[in-house]
Parts: sequence; structure tokens; C-alpha cells
Amino acid sequence: MEITGNQAQRSEQLLPQEQEKGHALPRQARDGGARIVVVGGGVAGLEVATAFGKLKSTCVDTVTLVDSDSAHVWKPMLHTIAAGTRDLAQQQTTYLAQAADAKFAYQPGEMCGLDREAHEILLAPIHAPDGRVLVAGRRLPYDKLVIAVGSGANDFGTPGVNEHCFMIDSRRKADAFNQEIRLRMLRCMTSGEQLQVAIVGGGATGVELAAELVQLAESARAYGVLGAAAKFRIVLIEAGSRLLPSFPEEISEATRVRLQALGVSVVLGGRVSRATTEGFELANGELILAGLRVWAAGVKAPEFLTQLGLQTTRSNQLLVNDEMQTSDPDIYALGDCASYTLPGHEVPLPPTAQVAHQQARYLIETLPHVLERPGAKSVGFAYRDFGALVSLAHYDAYGSLGKFGLFNGGVIRGRLAMLSHIMLYRSHQARIYGFWRGGLLWLIDLMNARLRPSIRLD
Ligand SMILES: Cc1cc2nc3c(=O)[nH]c(=O)nc-3n(C[C@H](O)[C@H](O)[C@H](O)COP(=O)(O)OP(=O)(O)OC[C@H]3O[C@@H](n4cnc5c(N)ncnc54)[C@H](O)[C@@H]3O)c2cc1C
Repeated sequence: MEITGNQAQRSEQLLPQEQEKGHALPRQARDGGARIVVVGGGVAGLEVATAFGKLKSTCVDTVTLVDSDSAHVWKPMLHTIAAGTRDLAQQQTTYLAQAADAKFAYQPGEMCGLDREAHEILLAPIHAPDGRVLVAGRRLPYDKLVIAVGSGANDFGTPGVNEHCFMIDSRRKADAFNQEIRLRMLRCMTSGEQLQVAIVGGGATGVELAAELVQLAESARAYGVLGAAAKFRIVLIEAGSRLLPSFPEEISEATRVRLQALGVSVVLGGRVSRATTEGFELANGELILAGLRVWAAGVKAPEFLTQLGLQTTRSNQLLVNDEMQTSDPDIYALGDCASYTLPGHEVPLPPTAQVAHQQARYLIETLPHVLERPGAKSVGFAYRDFGALVSLAHYDAYGSLGKFGLFNGGVIRGRLAMLSHIMLYRSHQARIYGFWRGGLLWLIDLMNARLRPSIRLD
């Protein structure tokens, strides 16, 4: 893991403070409340750490959140950070601030292993950008461990992807892409050069990024980046026969038509065999030229999960039961890194924010009872499918309704779908900041949208 000078300073300062509070110190399991360690402060993990931090219960002694990054961004908005249509600084939540607010401890670090016998997780050394070891590898004890480390894009072993493509599956990677695209736009502005961006993967991430880049180009032209929209070419490559394969066909088709109307070239049935410095080579021999290449296909949980001695799937996810327990009852897994199949179903729940949130909610409600009455069986996790949404920047949005209660499938689009998409983020903010603070942040965003440039121009 790389860490900046400031972060390093904070991590060095953290331990003495935490020692004072009695947090996160190696010690033997003892009587009294449990030491809960949550690894991964994403959609699921941050909700869990925040709720347990605020919980007043003698069953809980300390709550520690471990994350390899220093700040949280709601992952479903990473394509907007990548395009620069949202400002990262305004949307991120630093873990130290959230920890102070919600009364949990934060430990920067990347989990790399597990000592189940000693009930300790292993954290990798923290390195400075120049390679110096800033913090040596550490161990952190737990009584109950919650693993919520999410997932990343899956290159399926395609040659050249790691070397020549951007991915936008983390805060830092989305920001790195944005820095690069701003540099390329500068070049576009001052030369006649064209900027071609090719995105592989016609799922929600690829589709949303393509639309967001159209909005970027449109705004760039409005700010006088002369002809930027005309110089910008966006290609979306999907191996299957339609975009958004997990959505109903009418949404896939409407999305394709809308993206093409916005000027995006959509290639269906385009199986990428190699990424190069020039672009993407397809299995049929065609070469799609692209100065900037993004890989947004497939999802895979982190590799280290397969080395913990717990049961995993082929995509590295931890297998969990209906109580979200892994094959070790003291270790829970939530969100994208967990694989849970509902009774009577054949395929596991998809890796979505909706699933991650509902699993986090479930653990927040059940774990205190488990701690109070060890060994008692909890009511199993029940999933409510609220459907799925896809947003095409400020142009359009589509949604498929879930199948429970009053809902029975169906499709929404336009303003209603846009509002529903906005509400997903705003309810996440309300859960981590509380109703009033979350509401104020929404208000500030609305004001900023009127007062500040609509894209990053620095
Ligand atoms: C561009 C994009 C758009 C999306 N749009 C939608 C959408 O519209 N609707 C929807 O439902 N879903 C969407 N998703 C999927 C959704 O974001 C994920 O399903 C959700 O974030 C999963 O939550 P999580 O808590 O499992 O993991 P994450 O939110 O990914 O959080 C994982 C956390 O773990 C940390 N971490 C990782 N490895 C380690 C380690 N070894 N040690 C310590 N910390 C670690 C990471 O830094 C991160 O903070 C989208 C995803 C992307 C990328």
C-alpha cells in the first residue's frame, strides 16, 4: 500500500491515541464486551462501523475499522469522480473524521492475512511512495471480525489490461483516471488532437462512465475548451449481445439507443483479446484505437481472501450462511466479497450496493443479540429486491423495479428513475452522517451545483 506523507504522520500518531482509549491494542481475549474489527470501510463496512461505534452496549468493548485507504467514497459514484463531473474533495468522508464522530477507532492498513487461532488479523507494512517502510506489518486482535473488502474489476487474464488500462473500482483509481483525462483535455485544447476513450464492459459501470464522459465533453465545450465535444470520441465495447445484461431487455435497448444518440459508439459482441498502448484488439482481428483505455468488465473479490483458510468461490468471495457467517463463526463477510445464495435460488446475490447495505443492516440488527446470547440462532438474512437503476449522467436514467410487496417488476425511466438514483446516495449519507447532517450536505451540493463549475477544471 502506498501512503502519503500526511497519512503516514496520522498513522504514526494514531497508535498512541488509540492506546490511551484502549482501542486496537494487541491483548488477550478477556471477559467483558467484544472487540469488533471491521475490515473495509465501503458501503457495508462503514455503515456497520458507524452503527456499532454509536451503540451503547456492554456487549461491545471496542469497534475498529481498518481500511487501506484514508477516505470513503460511495462506490456507485466513482464514474462521476473519474469523469470529474463531481468533485472528489466534496464527496469523500475521511475515516479519521467519521471515526471521531461515530466513536469507533480507525486503523489505516491493508489486511493481508489472518491468524485464526490467535484471533488476529495481519496488516501489511505501509510504504511511502518512494518505497520506504513507514509502518511495519502489524497484527490486530478481534473477538468478532467483519470482512467487507469489496471487489475490483476482473481482467479475466486478458493480456495487457493491467499495464495499459485504467480501472475505476476505487477512489484512488477513479481520481488517477480523472487526472489523466484532464491532462489529455489540456492537450486537446492546445492542439488539433482528438481524444478517444474506449471502455470495455457494457454493464452499469461502463454505461454510466460513457454517459458521464459525454457530459464532461459537453461541459468542457461550454467552458471554452474549444470544440472539446467534437474532439472527444467515446467507444463502449461489450462482449455480449446487449448492454446491461442484468437488466430487462427493453432497458438494454433503450440505453443503447440513448448512448448512440449522445454520440457514443457502441460495439456489441466485441470480445477483447488484448490491450495495447494503441487501443484494444478484438478476437475478430479488429483494432479499436484509443488513447485512454478503461477496463470496467467483470467483478472479482481480492485474492488474499482465498488464503485465509475460509471457504471461497472461484471469484474469491467468502462463502457465507444466512447469518452472514463464513466457515468460521467468529468471522462475518458482507457485500461484494461475500457470496450468499438465497434458499431456493441457484445463483448468489449480485455484487451491488443494495445487497451490501441490506447485509450491513442485517448484521447491525443481529450481532448485538449474538453477543448477548452466544450460540443462539438468529433469524436468517432476508433480501428484498428493490430492483436496479442505471444513470446516464444528467441525460436520463432507467430502472427495473424489484419483485416484492407492491412491486412486481416493471420499468421506470426519466425523472423518477433519476430521483430514485439520487436517493440511493442520499440515504447512504443519512445512514453515516445522520438525517440532518446528511440533509445539509445535500443542500450544500445543490448550492455548489449552482455556484461552482460543473466539472473539475484545475
Ligand atoms: C462505477 C460503479 C458504479 C456502480 N453503480 C452501482 C449502482 O448504481 N447500484 C448498485 O447497487 N451498485 C453499484 N455499484 C456496485 C457497488 O458500488 C458495490 O456493490 C458496493 O460498493 C459494494 O460494497 P462493499 O461494502 O462490499 O465494498 P466497497 O464499497 O467496494 O468497499 C470496500 C472497502 O474495502 C477497502 N479494502 C479493500 N481491500 C482491503 C484490504 N485488504 N484491507 C483493508 N481494506 C480494504 C476498500 O478501500 C473499500 O473502502 C457500482 C460500482 C462501481 C465501481
